Amino acid sequence: MFGLIGHSTSFKEARLKAMELGYEHIAEGDLDVWCSAPPQLVEHVKVVSRTGKVIEGAYIDSCFVPEMLGRFKTARRKVLNAMELAQKKGINITALGGFTSIIFENFNLLQHQHVRNTTLEWDRFTTGNTHTAWVICRQLEINAPTLGIDLKKARVAVVGASGDIGSAVCRWLSGRTGVAELLLVARQQQPLIDLQNDLGGGRILSLDEALPEADAIIWVASMPRTLEVDTTKLRNPCLMIDGGYPKNLNQKFSGEGVEVLKGGIVEFFDDIGWNMMEIAEMEKPQRQMFACFAEAMLLEFENCHTNFSWGRNNITLEKMDFIGESSVRNGFSTLNLNGMFQAAAA
Ligand code: NDP
Repeated sequence: MFGLIGHSTSFKEARLKAMELGYEHIAEGDLDVWCSAPPQLVEHVKVVSRTGKVIEGAYIDSCFVPEMLGRFKTARRKVLNAMELAQKKGINITALGGFTSIIFENFNLLQHQHVRNTTLEWDRFTTGNTHTAWVICRQLEINAPTLGIDLKKARVAVVGASGDIGSAVCRWLSGRTGVAELLLVARQQQPLIDLQNDLGGGRILSLDEALPEADAIIWVASMPRTLEVDTTKLRNPCLMIDGGYPKNLNQKFSGEGVEVLKGGIVEFFDDIGWNMMEIAEMEKPQRQMFACFAEAMLLEFENCHTNFSWGRNNITLEKMDFIGESSVRNGFSTLNLNGMFQAAAA
C-alpha cells in the first residue's frame, strides 16, 4: 500500500474540508485547537496503472496548516504524528507532501525516530524529490522549444541550485539535456562551489545577476512572498518553471514574453476516484497531483518499498531514469504551457 501525507493550503481551507468530512468539532475550533488535533487517515483509494496493475493507497491529512509554520514544536509534532500513523496503518511507502518534507528536512526530524512507543522506519518514507526533479527537467525540455528557445544554445538559471531538487536538476541539465550554460543561484556560496565542482561547470551568480541573462529559469526554492523582480529586465522569450511550494510566481512575472509554468505537476491517464487532491488546488483533482505524491504511487507500482528519495543531494541520473521511465509506463504525463498534459517520454 502507498500513502500520501498532505495538508490544506490554509487554515480557512482546512476548516471547510473538515466541515465537509463531518469533523465539526475540529472545524469550528481555533488555531490552538487545530494545533493539538491528531492526523487523520481520511481516504482509501484503489489505483489501476496503464499497465493494468492495481495498487491501494491512503491519504493522511497531517492537520498541519501553513499558519503553523512559525510554531516550531507544533510543526514537528504534526509531521512525526502523521508518519507514525502511516507506519501503524502498515503503509509500505509514503510520500511527504507540501510543507511536510520541508519541515522534515529543515527541522532535522531524522533525530526524532521515536514517536511515543513507535520507532519510525525511514525506509517506509520518501520525499518524492527524484520524480519532482525529473518532471521539472522534462517540462523544460518539452516546453522551451515551443517558445523558440533552443536549449543547446540557452542559459538556464536554477534558483535553489544547491538544494536537493535543484542539484538533481543541474545534474540532468548538464549531463543529459546539454544546455549551453547553467547559472547557479542560492544564498550560501560554499554549497554552490561544491556543486560547480561536481558538475565540472556552471556559473555562480546572485539572483539579480542571473535573471537578465537567463533564457529559462527554474525555481526550486521557497521564495519569500516579498520578492520583487523587475520583469522588464528579463529576456524575451523567457520560460519560468515554478517548482517551489507554494506556487506563487504567476502573479509576479506575468509580462510580455515571459511564460510561467507550474513545475512538478503531473496528470494520471484516468480518474483516480479520490477527493483529497481538491485541497491541493489542482485544476483536475481527479487526475492531477504533485510529482512527489506520484512518486509513492510509482514505487508501489514497482514494488520498490524503500526510501527512494531521502536526505540531501543523493539523487542520481540513474534514479531519475528509473522513476521517469516508470512514470511514463504507468500513465503519468507532465503539465505543459498550453495547460495540456503530455507523456514525457525522453
Ligand atoms: P532544499 O531545502 O534542499 O533546497 C532549497 C534551495 O533553495 C537551496 O539551494 C537553498 O540554498 C535555496 N534557497 C532558499 N531560499 C532562497 C532564496 N531566498 N534565494 C535563493 N535561493 C534560496 O529544498 P528541496 O530541493 O527539497 O525543495 C525545493 C522546493 O521545491 C521547495 O520549495 C519545495 O517545497 C518544492 N517542492 C515542490 C514539489 C512539487 O511541486 N511537486 C515537490 C517537492 C518539493 P540557500 O539556503 O543557500 O539559499
